[in-house]
Amino acid sequence: METLSIPDLINGIRSGDKRLLGKAITLIESKKPEHRKEAEELLKEIMPFTGSSVRIGITGVPGAGKSTFIESFGKLALEKGKKVAVLAIDPSSSLNKGSILGDKTRMEELAKEQNAFIRPSPTSGFLGGIANATFETLLVCEAAGYDFILIETVGVGQSEVLVADITDVFVFLKIIGGGDELQGIKRGIMEMVDVIFINKVEDENQIKAKNTKVELMRALHFLPSKEKSWKVPVVLGSALNKKGLAEVYEKIDEFIQLKIRNETFEAVRKHQAEKRFEYWVQEYILQVTKQEKSLEKYYKHHKKNASDLKSNPSTEAKIFVEKLLKK
Ligand code: GDP
Repeated sequence: METLSIPDLINGIRSGDKRLLGKAITLIESKKPEHRKEAEELLKEIMPFTGSSVRIGITGVPGAGKSTFIESFGKLALEKGKKVAVLAIDPSSSLNKGSILGDKTRMEELAKEQNAFIRPSPTSGFLGGIANATFETLLVCEAAGYDFILIETVGVGQSEVLVADITDVFVFLKIIGGGDELQGIKRGIMEMVDVIFINKVEDENQIKAKNTKVELMRALHFLPSKEKSWKVPVVLGSALNKKGLAEVYEKIDEFIQLKIRNETFEAVRKHQAEKRFEYWVQEYILQVTKQEKSLEKYYKHHKKNASDLKSNPSTEAKIFVEKLLKK
């Protein structure tokens, strides 16, 4: 196997070498402690070159047209001279079943473009871990000069919450009817979303699409606004026929500009970073525990006490952490 130093990887990333970018991401996704050490080194070095992309989350049920949308939207961004990276958070891939997002050949045309980079979801680990690895992948893509980072997920489980935790703007792709406007509302997507795109609007279903829009606007009206002075726009269009995408592009831009004016753009990113810090504190405590044999023994002991259902898990965790601190 090819051995590359961290400086080699960084030079590769900075010079736009997609193969080395891919290798850096593989390093980030690795669970091995020695790889993690290298990943930390890499991330530390690239930090000064990060932060300048627009981070866009995209969700919608399977079949809503996410890949088609990303392909068309991505091409539009390329035409405007931007570089586009596409990442995915797929809750199914963390359950070791087939993946919902990754098992078909996706975005083939976009993938061929020099200024586009597509990376499927990491396939192992738990969802929270996958989201954190995806965020670090996003940072590496920023260091590689990508202007837009699109993060795709499906409307399943906690994945939207995790995507919202690492992005600046959240786009919800919807199809007409199917009762899924209600599902969206129930699952709380409507409270997280910043831009809605009703997809597959073509000649024959214009009226239905307009009705769906009215219903959505009514539902949105009753929700507290997430961003001051922002009314969530509902754009009608067709990802396949490239209709409505320019409007989504404009709305995203307007939203980002508003966040900058409202001084929430950076504030939200800071808050997101705090959440990730908390995640990593827990993660590293577990890692240290597993590396130190004596600690691991205690860890297993208290975990077993909890799993025997005789003792309260939080009490067992507290006793364990107190032992950890004494070490
Ligand atoms: P995903 O599962 O959300 O990624 O959805 P896909 O992008 O794979 O699209 C699912 C199906 O819907 C595919 O057969 C697409 O060709 C089709 N599709 C996507 N966008 C449109 C659209 O705007 N109009 C029509 N008629 N079909 C579309």
